Amino acid sequence: MSIGKILEYQMTLTCPEGEPGLYYCFMDTNGYSTWLEIDLSAIQNNVRRLQQITRSEVMAVVKANGYGHGAIPVAQAAVKAGATWCGVGRLEEALALRQAGLDCEILVMGYTPPPAIPEAIAQNITVTVYDQEQAEQYASQAREAHRRLRTHVKIDTGMGRLGVMAQAALDYMRWLNRLGGLQIEGIFTHFARADEPRVSLTTRQIERFLAVLDQLRAEGLCPPMVHAANSAAAIYFQDAYFNLVRSGIAIYGLDPSPEAGLPSGFLPALTWKARLTSVKTFPPGHGISYGSIYTTQKTERIGTIPVGYADGFRRVNQQQVLLFEQRVAVIGRVCMDQCALQLDAIPQAHIGDEVVLLGQQGNEQISAEELGARWGTVNYEVVCGLANRLPRLYSGPENSRL
Ligand SMILES: *Cc1c(COP(=O)(O)O)cnc(C)c1O
Repeated sequence: MSIGKILEYQMTLTCPEGEPGLYYCFMDTNGYSTWLEIDLSAIQNNVRRLQQITRSEVMAVVKANGYGHGAIPVAQAAVKAGATWCGVGRLEEALALRQAGLDCEILVMGYTPPPAIPEAIAQNITVTVYDQEQAEQYASQAREAHRRLRTHVKIDTGMGRLGVMAQAALDYMRWLNRLGGLQIEGIFTHFARADEPRVSLTTRQIERFLAVLDQLRAEGLCPPMVHAANSAAAIYFQDAYFNLVRSGIAIYGLDPSPEAGLPSGFLPALTWKARLTSVKTFPPGHGISYGSIYTTQKTERIGTIPVGYADGFRRVNQQQVLLFEQRVAVIGRVCMDQCALQLDAIPQAHIGDEVVLLGQQGNEQISAEELGARWGTVNYEVVCGLANRLPRLYSGPENSRL
């Protein structure tokens, strides 16, 4: 993969101090009409909280641009707080972390195409194996490079996605150990329903995983690193801690699910803000935005904000944002990069005023969980959907470079 590709992938964002490729900026919001504020001390707090709870190593899962928070600054902050690993979905995400100078352990949890294996080896990136043909292809790439490829083996204990089926795990590991070329450093599984703590599947998955580990230990084939827990399991299933927990959503301070909330002490890291870009008084009977689905009933004050579905703010009705610490209604169709607000209750509203779409303003708050519920989805999709064009501005610790 070329450096150009990697830089493109990093989604370099405007940085007031002009350091392209390092989208980590001092907090200076004056020049933006809409932006994300990410509090890196919240990320660090959450990593430490997970360490306290689990007493295990923490893998900060920073796939999908750090769940929309910015993979590189989040990874830097998490590692500084003690995370020993970063987890990503794809090799190009791992390469972007290396490119930014991160030297922690990195696991690609998804599929890595065999032609990319030399690059993974060169960059000291660990990949996931779970299939015979895949392992053979990896091994031949590694032999050609005269190097060993670092791997973690994935076991399917009930997720029904990637992984060697638990019943086949012993045979697979015997075979894999004879294959050569691969350094088998870890073994892991993934839970399908840990975010529903009352459902028994997670307990059964843990039992199946423990049975696999026992079989492997009996033959001296158990790799040193063992991991299973995602954020929900790191909070709700102590038996799943092993050496390391792989946590995404909790390091961003967001609940794994409505039934699996975070305990106290976790802090959401992200706030989405915008400025009022227009405040106008319309006469009665005036259509607002595409389709005129909202028409003024009387003389009404209507504002606009420069946020739309191209930013990840969904094109659905009945939304709210915060202005002067009050909830105001989003009215009319959400456009690609604008939407309208009903401002009759906020007579002091003025062009340039700060609006919060996600996060806290005074005593009012709109959470990623609330937005998810509004959009018929989960908080994960809300933050992962925050568009690349939104500037990400980072604060703390001590509002300085890490
Ligand atoms: C995304 C992912 C995680 C992190 O899940 P969270 O629920 O965000 O903690 C852990 N493990 C694997 C394999 C993943 O794909």
